[in-house]
Amino acid sequence: MIFQATEVNRAYASKLSDTTEVFLAASRQQLEYTANILSDKMADDVFLSDEANRLKYQTDSFNSVVISDASGLTQAASPETLNLVGKQLNSAGSLEALEAKRALISKPYISTIKNLLIFISAPIFDDQHHYLGFLGGSIYLRKPNILSKILGEHYYEDGSYIYVIDKYNQILYHPQKERIGTFVNNNDGLDEIISKKEGGLLLKNGQGIEMLAGYAIIPSTDWIIITQSPLESTLLPLTGIMEKVILRTLPMTLAVFLFIWLFARAISRPLQQLAERAKSLDSPTVSEDIEKINSWYVESLSLKRAMLSGVKLIHNQIGELRRDADTDPLTGVNNRRAFQFKLKQLALLETPFVILALDIDYFKRINDNYGHGVGDDVLKQHTQILNRFSRDGDLVARTGGEEFVLLLKDTSSADAFITAERLRSAIAEETFGIVGHITASIGIAAWSADSITIEKTLSLADQALYEAKGQGRNRCIIATPEMAS
Ligand code: GH3
Ligand code: MG
Ligand code: MG
Repeated sequence: MIFQATEVNRAYASKLSDTTEVFLAASRQQLEYTANILSDKMADDVFLSDEANRLKYQTDSFNSVVISDASGLTQAASPETLNLVGKQLNSAGSLEALEAKRALISKPYISTIKNLLIFISAPIFDDQHHYLGFLGGSIYLRKPNILSKILGEHYYEDGSYIYVIDKYNQILYHPQKERIGTFVNNNDGLDEIISKKEGGLLLKNGQGIEMLAGYAIIPSTDWIIITQSPLESTLLPLTGIMEKVILRTLPMTLAVFLFIWLFARAISRPLQQLAERAKSLDSPTVSEDIEKINSWYVESLSLKRAMLSGVKLIHNQIGELRRDADTDPLTGVNNRRAFQFKLKQLALLETPFVILALDIDYFKRINDNYGHGVGDDVLKQHTQILNRFSRDGDLVARTGGEEFVLLLKDTSSADAFITAERLRSAIAEETFGIVGHITASIGIAAWSADSITIEKTLSLADQALYEAKGQGRNRCIIATPEMAS
């Protein structure tokens, strides 16, 4: 659009230049033709006056016409109101014509009566080529005439305008009449324009507005015609086009955005859910939760699988660690920590239970006689017997060196005593390798929610065990209330 507008301006300036050139040539021709006729009529005042009037009034080419003799004395003038006849001509145009004695178009100058004008003249010679004077026409730049119609009147409505300057930057035609006769300054583009004959460019006018300009030079006067239109008004239709384009494509754009949004959400959803789960990998249900996530594309599926196997690994390791923390490494049964945890659980659930506190008799001697290794083997074999007596929900724990606990759920003291006795017999009957037979003593104490505290129960079982030891070992004793004190 910029190119087009500049090109239109250039073409218009060029056409105006041609038209002006044609007009100026026609004016000169008119004057030269008449000057020829006048060569033998310089003494005929009436003829001279008629010719001056004809040139003035036949067309609107000239605002005034004068005929001068070789000394610059006016022989005829039109309009007659000028009252020049018989007077000495001394305007710049006249003096130039007298001096040059040839056809001339003067540069613009200001006349004695303050008109900015150009003066077109043709010399008058007789048959012997003696200079007789000249015939000249003035064209006032600020007054109506053909030239001002060509160059001074344009009918743009979009802020475009045309002005004409001479080669000294003096304004000859301009829509702001008061600027005619003044000189152009602070106009970036003019230097470029002056250096070329014809073209187009983007320049800033005196008010700093960006203008697309076309220009052309009128060869016979070296005037420059500049036609320019504001860049903004040139680009104005673009705004409308852009609006239409935006409006037309809006539904499509929205649909695309909606699609992208939905698609992005569908892609991010499994990732987001996996990330959410990753925050609580220790949750017992995390595997099922991850399993439920709809990982509909390959990448999220492999992420999901990786997470699942990671979670499995972590849980296995946690399980192993937990087992290690709760297990006695030598015998593989629960340690004191696990035993105490179990006690708390049962207390919370208010499940009644009976504790058999067991201590191997004279164990130190086994170590002393056969060595620590054999002692360890005895402990292991002894644990197997205990395990045989432990039903579902019961618990075997090693609470000290050769001290064990068998916790029996939902049992009365009496039943527990029978079990304890059977256990004691089983131990006594077992053969422990080179050690042969061993015995153990057992203390028994019961707990239920409405009776004594758990600590008390443990202490009672210990008391009963102490009692069994005291009474000669290899026996089972149920704690009595008296033991508490
Ligand atoms: P009592 O009949 O009075 O219970 O006599 P005891 O010798 O069994 O009791 P004591 O408490 O004097 O001795 C227990 C011994 O158990 C002392 C220690 O050397 C031994 N012991 C403790 N832990 C282990 C173990 O892990 N392995 C082996 N081999 N011996 C252990
Ligand atoms: Mg002991
Ligand atoms: Mg012992």
